[in-house]
Amino acid sequence: MNQLRKTEIKYLPGVGPKRAELLAKQLEIRSFYDLLYYFPFRYIDRSTIHHITDLQGEMPYIQLKGRFINFTPQGEGAKRRLNALFTDGSGTIECVWFNRVKQIQESYRTGTEYVIFGKPTLYKGYYSIAHPEVDVYSPAKLTGGLRGMYNLTETLRNRSFSNRTMQQLIDNLLATEAVARIPDPLPQEIIDKYHLMPLSEALKNIHRPTDINSLQKAQFRLKYEELFYLQLNILRYSSTRNAKLRGFVFSRVGHYFNTFYSEHLPFALTGAQKRVIKEIRTDMGSGRQMNRLLQGDVGSGKTLVALMCMLLALDNNYQAAIMAPTEILAAQHYETISHLVEPLGIKCALLTGSTRKKDREAIHSSLLDGSLQIIIGTHALLEDVVQFRNLGLVIIDEQHRFGVAQRARLWSKNVNPPHVLVMTATPIPRTLAMTVYGDLDVSVIDELPPGRKPVTTLLRTEESRLQMYRFLGSQLAEGRQVYVVHPLIQENEKLDLHDLEQGYRTICETFPSYRVCYVHGKMKPAEKDHQMQLFVSNQAQIMVATTVIEVGVNVPNASVMVIENAERFGLSQLHQLRGRVGRGAAKSYCILMSKHQLAKETKHRLHVMTETNDGFIVAEEDMKLRGPGDMEGTQQSGIAFNLKISNLAQDGQIVQLARDDARSIIDIDPKLTSPKYADLGHHINEIFERDVDWSLIS
Ligand code: ADP
Ligand code: MG
Repeated sequence: MNQLRKTEIKYLPGVGPKRAELLAKQLEIRSFYDLLYYFPFRYIDRSTIHHITDLQGEMPYIQLKGRFINFTPQGEGAKRRLNALFTDGSGTIECVWFNRVKQIQESYRTGTEYVIFGKPTLYKGYYSIAHPEVDVYSPAKLTGGLRGMYNLTETLRNRSFSNRTMQQLIDNLLATEAVARIPDPLPQEIIDKYHLMPLSEALKNIHRPTDINSLQKAQFRLKYEELFYLQLNILRYSSTRNAKLRGFVFSRVGHYFNTFYSEHLPFALTGAQKRVIKEIRTDMGSGRQMNRLLQGDVGSGKTLVALMCMLLALDNNYQAAIMAPTEILAAQHYETISHLVEPLGIKCALLTGSTRKKDREAIHSSLLDGSLQIIIGTHALLEDVVQFRNLGLVIIDEQHRFGVAQRARLWSKNVNPPHVLVMTATPIPRTLAMTVYGDLDVSVIDELPPGRKPVTTLLRTEESRLQMYRFLGSQLAEGRQVYVVHPLIQENEKLDLHDLEQGYRTICETFPSYRVCYVHGKMKPAEKDHQMQLFVSNQAQIMVATTVIEVGVNVPNASVMVIENAERFGLSQLHQLRGRVGRGAAKSYCILMSKHQLAKETKHRLHVMTETNDGFIVAEEDMKLRGPGDMEGTQQSGIAFNLKISNLAQDGQIVQLARDDARSIIDIDPKLTSPKYADLGHHINEIFERDVDWSLIS
């Protein structure tokens, strides 16, 4: 394996220094190994031959069998190209080459029977194929039909590096001794358990499948190993970390927790809240440092869980901190929490960028002497001047706004790192959570407090705008408040801001008797907070805003959210936004406004919203539609998504298998150094050598 990594691609027959440079630049293929693991993205069935008359609409890569009628060079110099008319008896199609004109004209003849292969494109009612692959027809070649298609760049194609060139290089590579004798790092017990195809055979079949069955076996084998190695790596680090980092032991459930639970709980906990608190309590009492992700849909009551965990910390003489991504959120938490803990005589404070210097100094010193037990704040908590007497628990709300590095800074706030609870309403599908946060434990609140009415979501077009305004009017008349949200997308900022202003004016004109506030991300924080506050206090009844309101704001009296240009939002984002309504007793609505004509995929996406209120379903759909690399939260998580063959959206089951197998091996041999697993450990080191030490950052 190592030998394949070390052998530069230029030494492969058919490559040479020039192509090597091209491959490195265009596809990051530098070694034999890189090429071997550059898998086809698709397979074409070469046993099927199409007829020109049957071509219809958007066509995939296809084969045609027939003869060239003529070759006509056209243009001069750089514009020179070769046109050829091809017929299969049912009709004719044009073939075009933009380079190697002379060469091609010399090598193909009219009259000979060929099979041509390419993607027909429709232009002005006629199909043509650019740069088709051309083979002399022979029935033998058409059997055994599956042909791999490789992702190539435009530059490669322009340098006459085609799919067939790739195929030839792959053939040369597969024929080398090194590939034939490639060692298989997977433990025999695993190979036996799933009857996995041996590695060299799998690599041959992934590139040159003999039939569909062997292809599937090869795919399973390669997906499995990819995910298995990934899981091993993640678990290996987390077990090293667990061994290294002792956690504070919160052994007592004491006065604060018990008094709050029996006397001051504002409502009965849901079953899910109880379960999750128990999980967290067990974890914080185990002697291991806790790193836990708490997932709960918007409105599921994470704040109360956070508070009760903080009370546990206090009961064991530790301080607790809660960090929110924005000032307004921090302020809301402060309001809720300080109100709830007041009867217990607990001291808590709010620390943000706009805390006055004098207050700030007081907070700093009371954190240091331990008289301040709970601190709630923003990034301001991360500053070096903020030091604690004995910080035991840190809770991070709405995690995806915080980077990995910022989280790491919290660890230095005590001699041993405090327990960390990350709360998120972005429901990360299980397979993704396992891969991204492989070493975080996950708790899920999968139940909403009783009495919540699901938000009714409607999809409307411009034609119903007046009707929509009438509806807003009736809700406002009932004393409700309304959000109107506009997209703000970086590339298009100017235009969007214009839309937003326009939208604001229209709303002001349509509802002259109500106060309208206005918030967007480009505003100064103080102005933004002022505007938000107008809405929170019901001085303003309508808020026109961009997605800055997406996270956490709690205005139970708001019962309608209108989302303009809804087609421009991602599903998870729409779900987050929708979570701002339906928090009070009133029946709530989310109205998605969109253009009249939508692409099929977009329509499907928006319909997911009208059909379910379940954040997990929304997230799964989102991942299917967009792919996991695109999911909110994964970018910042720092794990590079360069999976070569597995698809987290589709291969959940394999993730699970790989995870379980990796777990049982790591349990026996955490460092992979025993004679039995040393080779495996060595292999993992090789694969992940360029990676950062994730064990240090959670
Ligand atoms: P999120 O999980 O989105 O942060 P919050 O913690 O803000 O949700 O809770 C949403 C609302 O639900 C709050 O108004 C809170 O007081 C209320 N709530 C929380 N837990 C319960 C419960 N067990 N029963 C009834 N209402 C609850
Ligand atoms: Mg919240």
